[in-house]
Amino acid sequence: MTEESETEMTSAPATTATVLVVEDEEALLLTMAHHLRREGYEVLTAARGDDGLQMAREHEPDVIVLDLMLPGVDGMGICRALRRDTRVPIIMVTALGGESDRVAGLDTGADDYLAKPFGMRELLARVRALLRRAPMRQEAPPEEDVVRAGDLEVNRVRREVRRGGELLRIKPREFELLLFLLRHPGQVLSREHILESVWEHDFNGDARTVDVHMRWLRQKIEPDAANPRRIRTVRGSGYLFEG
Ligand code: CA
Repeated sequence: MTEESETEMTSAPATTATVLVVEDEEALLLTMAHHLRREGYEVLTAARGDDGLQMAREHEPDVIVLDLMLPGVDGMGICRALRRDTRVPIIMVTALGGESDRVAGLDTGADDYLAKPFGMRELLARVRALLRRAPMRQEAPPEEDVVRAGDLEVNRVRREVRRGGELLRIKPREFELLLFLLRHPGQVLSREHILESVWEHDFNGDARTVDVHMRWLRQKIEPDAANPRRIRTVRGSGYLFEG
């Protein structure tokens, strides 16, 4: 008897693809969302880069339409951050149609590129093409032994860090801290969160411990530790790893 209702459930239409659109120009965002919804997609929208990155991680969309210039984290930053743990197809949208920007966008892992101004039919065609190419709900690849960020090369198995090919002398706790940052690029991480994750339960330290280790780590991985660009301090909030 229950079989009947189960059959009904399974004969429901296939899952609709979800498209996340990250764009700070409101009119364009609304227009894109409207056209995508009319095509039958589930549409999620974000007007800031940091919100977009968070939504991408929480909702695992099937395609992301990503503006390059965004408040918060820019399109390149989002793309780099997502590429560390997902293969979700990304279309980079930008006003900068120059070849160097296009190449840079594709280098960070975008799958396609759309220069403003563009027509909605073109956008829909690109989204369709990417969905055809990519099976839905791509699994994240397994964590690789070697993780790279800029000129940094971190070998998880050998627990080695190289910068520009040169082996760094790095303490075990600094290594764990760096691995944690690499797993959360572009995210503001509070001292408490870092302390809980990296020190776990074997330490009754306070948040200043995090600051001290960040300072040591910066001295090793920043080109100029006095003006850190990789590990940024977010006043009143914590730290943000740019990669
Ligand atoms: Ca923009």
